[in-house]
Amino acid sequence: MKRTVYGPDHDVFRESVREFIARSITPRAEEFIENRLIDREVWLEAGRQGFLGLEVPEEYGGSAAGDYRFNAVLGEELSWAGAAFSSSLGIHYDVVAPYLVELTTEEQRKRWLPRFCSGEMITAIGMSEPSGGSDLAALRTTAVRDGSDWIVNGSKTFITNGYCADLVVVAARTSPEKRAKGITLFAVETGMEGFTRGRKLDKVGQPEADTAELFFENVRVPAENVIGEVDRGFIAMMERLPQERLGSAVANLAHAASVLAETLAYVKERKAFGQAIGSFQHNKFVLADLVTKVEVSQAFVDQCVAAHAAGELSAVDAAKAKMWTSEVQGQVLDACVQLFGGYGYMKEYRVARAWMDARVTRIWAGSNEIMREIIGRDLGL
Ligand SMILES: Cc1cc2nc3c(=O)[nH]c(=O)nc-3n(C[C@H](O)[C@H](O)[C@H](O)COP(=O)(O)OP(=O)(O)OC[C@H]3O[C@@H](n4cnc5c(N)ncnc54)[C@H](O)[C@@H]3O)c2cc1C
Repeated sequence: MKRTVYGPDHDVFRESVREFIARSITPRAEEFIENRLIDREVWLEAGRQGFLGLEVPEEYGGSAAGDYRFNAVLGEELSWAGAAFSSSLGIHYDVVAPYLVELTTEEQRKRWLPRFCSGEMITAIGMSEPSGGSDLAALRTTAVRDGSDWIVNGSKTFITNGYCADLVVVAARTSPEKRAKGITLFAVETGMEGFTRGRKLDKVGQPEADTAELFFENVRVPAENVIGEVDRGFIAMMERLPQERLGSAVANLAHAASVLAETLAYVKERKAFGQAIGSFQHNKFVLADLVTKVEVSQAFVDQCVAAHAAGELSAVDAAKAKMWTSEVQGQVLDACVQLFGGYGYMKEYRVARAWMDARVTRIWAGSNEIMREIIGRDLGL
C-alpha cells in the first residue's frame, strides 16, 4: 500500500541516510559486532551529515527540522541496517535530544548541544536500576544537596550507550518522601569523580549497541548540570516517553519489514520437493499473513508519526504502537527463521541475528505489560 505520511523532502533525506549507511555502516558491520561497539567514526560521520541534530536549533549546530517525520525516516533506515543502529543512535538523536533541547538553560544548550550534534559527545539516559525498571517512581539512586552541588549515589543498569556515553541523563531521587514527585534529572559526565561503568553487558542480541551498568559513588554534580526543575524529573520523563515509544515502534516495524523482504526473496529461490518453498500453500499463507500484519501495522504507525509531527500523539496511542509493533516483529522474525530452515538458526545469517536482536523490543521502552496497563487504564479499567 502506498504510504502517504512522507513527502519529497523526506524521500531526499532518506536517500542521504541510505548513502551514509552504505558508506559508514554496512562495510564495517561485522567489525562492530566483534567489538560489541559502534565505532566513534560512525557517530562523527552521522554528525557531519546533520543526522544527530534533527531536533536541535540551528544556533547550537542542529538542523531544527521541526518535523518528527525526519526522525522516523532516520530510524527506519538505521533499523534496515540493523536493529542495534536505530537503538544506539536513536537513544541519542530521538530520546535524549528532547531533554537537552527542551529542559535546559541557555548556558547548558551552548555547553552541550554543539558537541551533541557533531557526534563528539555521545549521550545515554539512565532510568532503569538493578532493583527495577518498570516501577520508575520507585527508583533508588539518590541525589542530596551539598551547597549548590548535588551528591549522587546509586546505580543504573541496562543503559544503552552506557559504556561509551560522554553524558548520561540520570534520574535520581531528590525528595525521598515524595515518590514520583521527588525525582530530578542530572547530566552526569565522563570524568566526574565517582562515576564508573561496569562491563559491557553480554546480551542475547544487538551486540553492536553497547549496554552497560553505571555506578555513582558520591559523584559531585554541580547545580549547572541539573536538567529541568528539581523534583520534576518524573513528569519530564512521562512527557517524553511517548516519543521514545513511537521511535521504538517505527524501528520495530522497519526491522520486521526488512527481514520479511529478505525472506520473501529466499523462499522464491530455495527449493524442496522440486519447487520453491514459498510456493507450498502453508508457507504462502504464513507469508500472506505476515505481509498483511506489517502493512496494517504500518498504517497505524504512520498515523502516529503524523500525529506526533503535529504535536497530537497521545501517550496511549504511543503505547499501542510500541506494544503492537514489537509483538508483530516477534511473530514475523520467528516465522522468517522457520522459513530459512537450518540456516535461520545460523548466526552468520541476518535472519538469525535479527531474531535475537528483536526479542528485547517487547521488554524495553516500557515492557509490553506496562503498555497494556497504560492502554487498559485508558479504557477505565
Ligand atoms: C538491551 C536493553 C537496553 C536497555 N536500555 C535502557 C536505557 O538506555 N535506559 C534505561 O533507563 N533503561 C534501559 N533498559 C531497561 C528497560 O527499560 C527495562 O528492562 C524495562 O523497563 C523492564 O524493567 P526490568 O528489567 O527491571 O523488569 P521488571 O520491572 O523487574 O519487570 C519484570 C517483568 O515483570 C513485568 N511487570 C512489571 N510490572 C508489571 C505490572 N504492573 N503488570 C504486569 N507485569 C508487570 C514486566 O513487564 C516484566 O515482564 C534496557 C533494557 C535492555 C534489556
